[in-house]
Amino acid sequence: MFRLKLSTFFGRQSVVFGKPLSPSPPRFRINIGGGGGFFSSRTYASYRRFNDSQSSTKYTSPYQYYIQLLKSRKVLYTAGGLLGFYIYNLHEAPYTHRRRFIWIPFWLEVKIGDYSYRQIMQQYGSMILPHSNPIYSRVSAIMNKLLATTFANDDSQQNYLKDLHWEINIIQNDSLPPNAFILPNGKIFIFSSILPICQNDDGIATVLSHELSHQLAHHSSEQLSSQPFYMALSGLLYSITGISWFNDLLINGIFTMPASREMETEADYIGCEILAKSCFSPNQAVLFWQRMGKMEQKLVGNTSGIKGVEWFSTHPATSKRIRDIESWMPRLREISESSGCYEYGKFHNFNRNFFKR
Ligand SMILES: [Zn+2]
Repeated sequence: MFRLKLSTFFGRQSVVFGKPLSPSPPRFRINIGGGGGFFSSRTYASYRRFNDSQSSTKYTSPYQYYIQLLKSRKVLYTAGGLLGFYIYNLHEAPYTHRRRFIWIPFWLEVKIGDYSYRQIMQQYGSMILPHSNPIYSRVSAIMNKLLATTFANDDSQQNYLKDLHWEINIIQNDSLPPNAFILPNGKIFIFSSILPICQNDDGIATVLSHELSHQLAHHSSEQLSSQPFYMALSGLLYSITGISWFNDLLINGIFTMPASREMETEADYIGCEILAKSCFSPNQAVLFWQRMGKMEQKLVGNTSGIKGVEWFSTHPATSKRIRDIESWMPRLREISESSGCYEYGKFHNFNRNFFKR
């Protein structure tokens, strides 16, 4: 329960798409006879032979049915087509060069962002700070630096992001859980309750660079792309076992959560590189996550929230994030150095304003 709440820390999924990651049980079911409850014994008497609706062939078990199904030519062609579609849509993630499956086009990702934006504005629109507020100026100065760095190294993968209508919305309500996220259409949301944990500009930059990295790496499309696969798998398992909660747990444990944690670690890594290039202190990112860890401990009431829960969580444990960032530190220092961050009086072209209208 607590972890579910925590998933809203930088959690695009729960806020943006308004539904949990786990695939819901499918609405179809292959004529399983018996129909009893969990673990009840059933007779599998009404499986029809695939592609032969006239046949009255009966199968004594669902496994027999599936073996027959797998031998069917139609199924083989469909499987071949799906495999081709999967291979064709394998793309390399920027920075980390991880291969992943994405078939959702960028324009659809932006449309989903637009839809989420309208929903969020309906809920929080009245709490948004005016642009005259000093916090807005502070956040926009930090975000301008991060965006300028990101777009400086003319990567074609990021060109379309330059043309988005970037917008910052600071939601003033300290009783809401600490949170921040960026939608695929360039709309940035920061809840005022996260600012005390950020403590300083480097802390705010840690949060924003992490969120920006999710967009640079198209993590929303990646998550959406695999949803139909999880639903189909859930449907298949349900038709065999008749138990939906177990299948969902299995799919979450094997696919959804590890994928989500991989994306989180990737966003941490890309975010830290952007921090270092923008002359923010990656050391402060470690301190930020330590403060976040303390906050988690306070909320949970003991240390079990930090250790041992990672497998069941969509987010890596905070202690793992800290260890990861510390292990990247020598490389991050090199990046800061080569970006001229330690040179006194070095001119950085951070003057572009991405939020001008
Ligand atoms: Zn994240």
